[in-house]
Amino acid sequence: MPARDFFHSVQRIGPVQIGTHRNRRAGQTRHAAVCTAERCGWSADYGTRTAAQLAARTHRCAVR
Ligand SMILES: [Zn+2]
Repeated sequence: MPARDFFHSVQRIGPVQIGTHRNRRAGQTRHAAVCTAERCGWSADYGTRTAAQLAARTHRCAVR
């Protein structure tokens, strides 16, 4: 899990938060989608914000 301090442009879609951060090793901007629901723990990294937003919208929490 990268340090939260590197995230900017944080956006919330349902329980999922999307944060833009820079991958220092690759020198690329990445878009992390992280589910904030307790015990879900889902997270993924995307190359574009659109992909992250789509994943956030279609994410289905396993935990209800
Ligand atoms: Zn979830």
